Amino acid sequence: MLEHLQAVPPDPILGVLAAYNQDPNPNKIDLGVGVYKDEEGRTPILPSVLSAERELLERQTSKSYLGPTGVTGFNEAISRLIFGADSPALNESRIRTVQTPGGTGALRVAAEVIRTANPDARVWFSDPTWANHTAIFPAGGLQSGTYPYFDPDSNGLRFDAMMEALGQLGPNDAVLLHACCHNPCGVSPDESQWREIAELAGQRGFLPVIDMAYQGFERGLDDDNLAIRVFAEQCPELIVASSCSKNFAMYRDRVGAISVLASSAQKAADIETVIHSLTRKNYSMPPAHGPAVIDIILHDDALTAQWRAEVGDMRDRINGLRAGLVARIAASGVERDFSFLERQAGMFSFLGLTVDQVQKLREQFSIYTVNSARINIASLNQANLDYFVSGLKSVLE
Ligand code: PMP
Repeated sequence: MLEHLQAVPPDPILGVLAAYNQDPNPNKIDLGVGVYKDEEGRTPILPSVLSAERELLERQTSKSYLGPTGVTGFNEAISRLIFGADSPALNESRIRTVQTPGGTGALRVAAEVIRTANPDARVWFSDPTWANHTAIFPAGGLQSGTYPYFDPDSNGLRFDAMMEALGQLGPNDAVLLHACCHNPCGVSPDESQWREIAELAGQRGFLPVIDMAYQGFERGLDDDNLAIRVFAEQCPELIVASSCSKNFAMYRDRVGAISVLASSAQKAADIETVIHSLTRKNYSMPPAHGPAVIDIILHDDALTAQWRAEVGDMRDRINGLRAGLVARIAASGVERDFSFLERQAGMFSFLGLTVDQVQKLREQFSIYTVNSARINIASLNQANLDYFVSGLKSVLE
């Protein structure tokens, strides 16, 4: 039977990474891979995470099963982090959070919850969106479509076209939104636009599904859940898929969560049983190590303060690089206006290059990006910024 299987082509980003790894040029830069890097180009374990891991090692006496909810202290702390500690819905017990293997796991469970609620539901993605969204939701049994989002001419949001498209949707639809730091384009709605989208969701009755993979990387941990707070005010139901991969730098430990806001406390409890039954026949129970570490951090004032400062450092470095990049591109005499890079946020932005220009960057300068020219800003640093700008200038001439 297995004879029938054919090889699946690798993810394009892995191809870029493989080519980068083989390149002997000492000045090479990998702008493709989606992890945060520090000034030295490393992705270190956060000191707060290391302290909590040491404490866990001392404290943990058993690795017996925890059950389908996983680490309950983590679930409760994540609910507060992503909805805000003073969330009225939280006080009304209308929110349930269950840890998942990464944000990807949360998205897959979300797809299955929606399919269980309504097998005919369709999920709508921003154009463009993180490539894996368009794979995960159909794999979870849902049909999909796209709504207008990024405008390559203005490097901003196609807000009117987006509202027009979402205005056609109704109770059989789910709309996937990026809470902050949109991947791949770095453009987020502003506060009044979020309010308009949430009001529309309330009026039309479509289900908002919010992917929050970068909380803390745009304006700050407490401000980056703006969209979630606004939707929780306007809509009786909401799903959030959150990830701790970036803001706790726990990528390989696979830490994320699905949070469901329901119309009543009873409905929220009912939906949690649905989540358990879905995960039981998938991975049975979620991995506990990462959430146990985060549980320690978020229940210890000193560690929480330390972690918040560490997230702030990552955000400030990215924003500093964005500002530095814009200034150096302008100073280099490049005529095209790249000031949009400073108006966008998070690790990713599109450079707006053609595939030819992307290839030239790769072949002549060993600067690697995916063909869409999406770059990971965090891969830049004071040592390679000028080299990058000279390569960019050259391919634009
Ligand atoms: N959503 C978005 C938009 C992402 O960029 C990512 C990671 N690149 C994820 C979800 C999933 O993250 P993970 O599964 O690694 O937690």
